[in-house]
Amino acid sequence: MSNEVNPFESLQEQIDDAAAYLEYPTDVLERLKHPERVLETNLSVEMDDGSIEVFKAFRSQFNGDRGPYKGGIRYHPQVSRDEVKALSGWMVYKCAAVNIPYGGGKGGIKLDPREYSDGEVERVTRSFAKELRPFIGEDRDIPAPDVNTGQREMNWIKDTYETLENTTEPGVITGKAPESGGSAGRVEATGRSVMLTTREAFDYLGKDVGEATVAVQGYGNAGSVAAKLIDDLGANIVAVSDSSGAVYNPDGFDARAAKSHKNETGSVTGFEDATEELTNEELLTLDVDLLIPAALENAINGDIAQEVQADIIVEAANGPLTPRADDVLTDRDVAVFPDILANAGGVTVSYFEWVQNRQRFYWEEQRVNDELERVITNAFDNLVKTYERTDAPSFRTAMYVVAIERVVNAAEEAGIWP
Ligand code: NAD
Repeated sequence: MSNEVNPFESLQEQIDDAAAYLEYPTDVLERLKHPERVLETNLSVEMDDGSIEVFKAFRSQFNGDRGPYKGGIRYHPQVSRDEVKALSGWMVYKCAAVNIPYGGGKGGIKLDPREYSDGEVERVTRSFAKELRPFIGEDRDIPAPDVNTGQREMNWIKDTYETLENTTEPGVITGKAPESGGSAGRVEATGRSVMLTTREAFDYLGKDVGEATVAVQGYGNAGSVAAKLIDDLGANIVAVSDSSGAVYNPDGFDARAAKSHKNETGSVTGFEDATEELTNEELLTLDVDLLIPAALENAINGDIAQEVQADIIVEAANGPLTPRADDVLTDRDVAVFPDILANAGGVTVSYFEWVQNRQRFYWEEQRVNDELERVITNAFDNLVKTYERTDAPSFRTAMYVVAIERVVNAAEEAGIWP
């Protein structure tokens, strides 16, 4: 997986592709291709041995036309200004694609948390929360988890913010533990929307998901929950991977057992029900019906795309295809269902969490899952209607047409402040 392709340029290209099907003047579209502002900060944090280490951190607020900025915080050594800008832009169009009342933002710290103690990660997180404090708030900008962050980090950010503001404001951040105001169903929400998109996609294409073979790249939160729920639809999970490698069994295996193995050993490799170990690239080019990239951006480049044998790709990760891979797969008639729909379950249930926080009234998990299903199936219906109406070359371009129209409409209603 490489970042030779700048993800921010990929985002801008996706907007340009959709612009061809929209009749907006260039200046209107230009505004939609750049963040409104980016915070870049250097966190000086004391390590366990008393030394001070400096961590680069970012928060991009891309567009707030449809509501407060919304998006996760990622901890990864590859975090960069352009990656955070791209991810914040994808959040704008994701929230618009599924029609929830948010703009888009994203944050990140250049950090591999596995190299630090829990205490050090907590001090880095609280230091970032202190820097973020003037920019965030339940009506301003609402962070959430992303790669290598979860309930623990969200609880620390909430606690730091509330302590400094001398208030209780659980809606300042989502993805919290239920005891801290988190929503039932949030942990599984991203994987659930990947499953719902898969179910709708197979139905739309007239294929039987119960007969499908499936490979999943990346077996973290998004990938493992998606695999489990797609397994429950009757599909056959035949290969999964993580950063250590891939495992394969052409007869399939139990997605839950693969996750238990990863929980116990730290990796999917060595999983006893697999018959072969593969490289990640071999997994991406397996002869399967459905491929789910669920790791990081740019996982599939143009060369790999030539070798992909799956008929359908459902993107659990953000930006897993380079623009060239997208073109190759479109030419080869592989149906790609885009990230801004398929993984929107995370932000949708974050929205439900925020609604519950503001009302101080909490829902049962069944209600959360039912509301999520309604949001994703409505978005899917809108996608295919637009795909057919515009004759767009891909589902991605059609989804961007829907999303861009919503953002432009909101901006036009608001007007431009001089
Ligand atoms: P995670 O940290 O829980 O899991 C990431 C997984 O990818 C891990 O299993 C890791 O080992 C694996 N991985 C990393 N590098 C890899 C490589 N080179 N090859 C194969 N596997 C590799 O993260 P996550 O929350 O599941 O996020 C995964 C993707 O989903 C990201 O693109 C993220 O932005 C996106 N996403 C997540 C959520 C969410 O709610 N968790 C919501 C929307 C989008």
